[in-house]
Amino acid sequence: MGKIIFTGTGAAPGVPSLSRGWGNCNPNNEKNRRRRIGTYLEIGNQKFLIDTSPDLRAQLLENDIRYVDGVLYTHAHADHIHGIDDLRELNRIIKRPLNVYGTKHTMEQIRTRFSYLIADPLCTEDRCIYKASLAVSEIGFDESLYLGDVKIDVLELTGHLVPSNGYIFNDGEVVYVADCREISEVGLKKIKQKPKVLVLPLTTPNAGYAKISHMGLDKVLEYVNVIKPERAILNHMAAECDYDEISRLTPSNVFVAFDNMVVEY
Ligand SMILES: [Zn+2]
Repeated sequence: MGKIIFTGTGAAPGVPSLSRGWGNCNPNNEKNRRRRIGTYLEIGNQKFLIDTSPDLRAQLLENDIRYVDGVLYTHAHADHIHGIDDLRELNRIIKRPLNVYGTKHTMEQIRTRFSYLIADPLCTEDRCIYKASLAVSEIGFDESLYLGDVKIDVLELTGHLVPSNGYIFNDGEVVYVADCREISEVGLKKIKQKPKVLVLPLTTPNAGYAKISHMGLDKVLEYVNVIKPERAILNHMAAECDYDEISRLTPSNVFVAFDNMVVEY
C-alpha cells in the first residue's frame, strides 16, 4: 500500500515553454500544463521526494506536502535539482537537517553547486530559517539503503548527458526510472518482483532532438514489456507529448501522468 503524487510531469522547459509554447499539446486540456519534474512517494512508513525541480515550491504548496523523511536525487541536471533551496521550508517545519540521498556524482555536484546548503551542526530552529540544511548521503550502486521499513536500491541507467540513476523500492514494489537512453542489465536484475507501479520518463515520443540522451516511446514501451508492471506511468514530457495522443498510443496498463495526479497502489 502506498501513494505517489506526480507533482510535476514536464521535461526541462515545462509545458507551455517559452520557445515552443504548447507545441503538439492541446492547450485546452489542463493535463497538458506541466511543471518541471517532481514526484512524492509514500511507501511503507516512509515519505520521499524524488528530485527538487525549480517548481518545487508550487508543487509542495498545491499538494499540501509539509513533511518528508528524505529526498532522493536522480541526477544533477537543473530541472531535477534547482528547487533545492525551497527545502528550507521543510527544515523550518522539522527543525533539523533534512536527509538527502543520491549517487556519488550527483551528491558531489550538490555539494559543489549548493555548498551553502550542507547541514550546519548549529542548525537550530533560529538558524534554519535562513537556508536549507541538508544531511547529504551517498548511495553506492552495490548497496541497499534501508530507511524505516523500506529497502531502496539504485537502478543503473545509461546514456544520459550526466550520470543518472533510478530507484527500486522493496525489490521492485515501485520502480522509478529517470532520464536515460537505457536501463542497464545489472539494474533490471535487481527488480525481483512484478512492480505495482513502474514510472518511466517519456521526454518526446520519437526521441527527436532529445534522442541523444533520452528514450522515445518505442523504447519506453519495450521496457514496459520487459519489466511487466501492474501499471506503468509516464512522466517528464515535453511539448511534443499531447496527453490524449500519447494515451491513444499506449496499452491499457500504461498511463500518462499529469500534474498533481495521485496514484494509490
Ligand atoms: Zn536530465
